[in-house]
Amino acid sequence: MTSLKTSHLSTELIHHGYQPPGDFQAPQPGVHKASTIFFPNVAAMRQRDWKDKSGYTYGTHGTPTTFILEERLCSLEGGKHCVLTPSGLTALAVASFAILKQGDHVLLPENAYGPHQALAEHELQNFGISHTYYDAMNLLDLETKIQNNTKLVWMEVPGSVSMEFPNLVALVQLCQSRKILTALDNTWGAGIAFKPFDLLGDGQLAVDFTAHALTKYPSGGGDVLMGSVMTHDDHLGMKLKLSHMRLGICVGANDVETILRSLPTISMRYQAQDEAGRALAAWWQLQKACVQVMHPALSASPGHENWQSLCNSGGGSGHAAGLFSVMLSPALSSSQVDAFCDGLKLFRIGFSWGGPISLVVPYEMSSLRRDWPSGLARGHLVRFSLGFESVADLKADLAQSLERHLNF
Ligand SMILES: *Cc1c(COP(=O)(O)O)cnc(C)c1O
Repeated sequence: MTSLKTSHLSTELIHHGYQPPGDFQAPQPGVHKASTIFFPNVAAMRQRDWKDKSGYTYGTHGTPTTFILEERLCSLEGGKHCVLTPSGLTALAVASFAILKQGDHVLLPENAYGPHQALAEHELQNFGISHTYYDAMNLLDLETKIQNNTKLVWMEVPGSVSMEFPNLVALVQLCQSRKILTALDNTWGAGIAFKPFDLLGDGQLAVDFTAHALTKYPSGGGDVLMGSVMTHDDHLGMKLKLSHMRLGICVGANDVETILRSLPTISMRYQAQDEAGRALAAWWQLQKACVQVMHPALSASPGHENWQSLCNSGGGSGHAAGLFSVMLSPALSSSQVDAFCDGLKLFRIGFSWGGPISLVVPYEMSSLRRDWPSGLARGHLVRFSLGFESVADLKADLAQSLERHLNF
């Protein structure tokens, strides 16, 4: 810009003439913060179309920092268009609001992430969008619950907390044969365990949308909330972008920076927590107090064969998130189970997962599900998510509290 001759300090500090050299290169991309973004002249301002990524318009429509994260997430999950949201839950909401209108019907799995069910039961319902729950482990149940006005089917693999692993390929194929859009909560797979936009590995089958709680694996720190919605389709991508813009949804540059810093290590972190999760899940199978272990990579876990074909088709050990649930004996009391959780020293009590600290949460099945899931034994459900502590230390921690509180 032409420099202005001024004798006033504040004007000089704002319109300072110094420009640092532009060829700065470093491991992490710069953090650009803006509500206002300048245009070189009025013509450029008028010509600028915010809907493409060839330039910048306003902070809510993207900065170099958010564009970089969106494109890297597209590489991670295999999609083409991505929007960022301030949490995983808003990602689920934005996907539904972009697609659904009054009079539409949406299907959610019975074991969907709890707050997603609450969103359907309140905001979607209030806006005249009806919903039904389906049993994701039963293709026929989905088929019978499809209505003439069913527009979208949500899927989650595995189910939240109860960890049953559905046949995602069959669910998506059924929806496509009925011309119904599909959206997957891809938080567990995280783009690592399987490719939601190429389910068969031949480019022939894809979900229409993924929503991802970046709060979990992409962050990996337990300190940032963020979400993304993605599609591989240009038309759906534009619908998503327009809706995202009209709702005014955006994320802070410092949070994006944190995710960008963690993203390069996501495969290693996923792998490490997977290995720890399987080691502890196997250990739990040997404990008398435990009647069932729900971890999709274990052969006795509900839907194991579906996990096998989706996440382990190449042989080897396949991929799974560092997350599993155990069903403790119904002979125990709830207060014994609570005392066991309280008695853990390394596992902290808290929601979420993907961070450095291992977590435990006891759940009342009756608060999660209308009916007891058919593949699950009766008992007390406790969910574990693995951090990065040594597996031997975590085992010792479980053993000491089990010995003290669940010995029968
Ligand atoms: C955590 C989570 C969400 C929500 O993410 P937040 O960022 O906590 O809002 C959605 N779906 C699944 C499966 C999750 O685990």
